[in-house]
Amino acid sequence: MNQDYITFTIKEKKNIALIAHDNEKPKLIQWCKDHYDILKNHSLYGTGTTSRMIADQAGLYIRGYNSGPLGGDQQIGAKIVEGVIDFIVFFSDPLTAQPHDPDVKALMRIAQVYDIPMAINKATADFLITSLYMEKEYEHQVINFQKNIQDRANTL
Ligand code: PGA
Repeated sequence: MNQDYITFTIKEKKNIALIAHDNEKPKLIQWCKDHYDILKNHSLYGTGTTSRMIADQAGLYIRGYNSGPLGGDQQIGAKIVEGVIDFIVFFSDPLTAQPHDPDVKALMRIAQVYDIPMAINKATADFLITSLYMEKEYEHQVINFQKNIQDRANTL
């Protein structure tokens, strides 16, 4: 067993973050309606406006954080670090400049660091939501941050 990594488990019931940039919101809401029967079995989280619209229009229970441009993406990133969120569907807009672009990039980066499944378009989201792993646990290897901190403290 390599101590540099520890095994994390994404449980059968996923903790899914749902986010969409403004031009992509209608697409994400339709996607939520299309996959309502699956999504209702998981715990849902989202940035402020996206989650409000999903609750109102798709009828799903979802916990909302702040609006994306006001720090919501960073809140979701923090929840990944805390082990609360373990799955992301983020319909980002590739054609429009976003004021919070650094936050979006930071969220993508932290999802990579923690090996979190992350769909950034509908096709990937369709593949993820129909994956066999949606119905069972998934074990993955994540950097052992305690060891990483101790090693750095010892050597720097
Ligand atoms: P919003 O934020 O759901 O509050 O619109 C999403 C985003 O732009 O990151």
